[in-house]
Amino acid sequence: MARYRGAVCRLCRRERMKLFLKGDRCYTDKCGIERRNYPPGQHGQGRSKVTEYGRQLREKQKVRRLYGIQEGQFRRYFQEADRRKGVTGANLLRLLETRLDNVVFRMGFASSRNQARQVVRHGHIEVNGRRVDIPSYQVRAGDTVSVREKSRKVAAIEGALQLMESRGAPRWIEVDAKAFQGTVKELPNRDDITMPIEEHLIVELYSK
Ligand code: SF4
Repeated sequence: MARYRGAVCRLCRRERMKLFLKGDRCYTDKCGIERRNYPPGQHGQGRSKVTEYGRQLREKQKVRRLYGIQEGQFRRYFQEADRRKGVTGANLLRLLETRLDNVVFRMGFASSRNQARQVVRHGHIEVNGRRVDIPSYQVRAGDTVSVREKSRKVAAIEGALQLMESRGAPRWIEVDAKAFQGTVKELPNRDDITMPIEEHLIVELYSK
């Protein structure tokens, strides 16, 4: 399936919550959700009865769009989460949260996950001193993620780090912005993921 290339604010409006897909604009009153908090399209403001299946589907789509994952890959994450020990829903969120592109975003080296994916693909990021250009690379506890020396003047990375100063890093990550470097202190717990996500709905959807 091709990557979605349409207007991303529509995705937030569809899910009726901020998915932070546009970087600094998401933190201003120009945000699409701030201006029109109803689903896009002709019937966006109409009343609709949501079925249980509809709730499960929306929750899956929301998480998939939040992390910028395509359907097939998302299903593979679910299968892996189900295979691992522990609670499937929490495993799924941990797998998504520890993708390299997400960690780069969380560390403030990019202002959105989309931008983080590009920063990684363009070879600006090192993990434990070695260049990694695979956005889905899974980071581990103790890994050090840094911006390559020659990439530190890239405007997008500098701008994102400024934005990070107001946003802050999550508990499981330690960032040294001056050194363009961060460390994954430990893997995130379910409580570390503060977006309102009902992952049990995704488990129910895929368990049918
Ligand atoms: Fe979503 Fe950001 Fe657009 Fe707001 S500005 S609707 S958070 S992508």
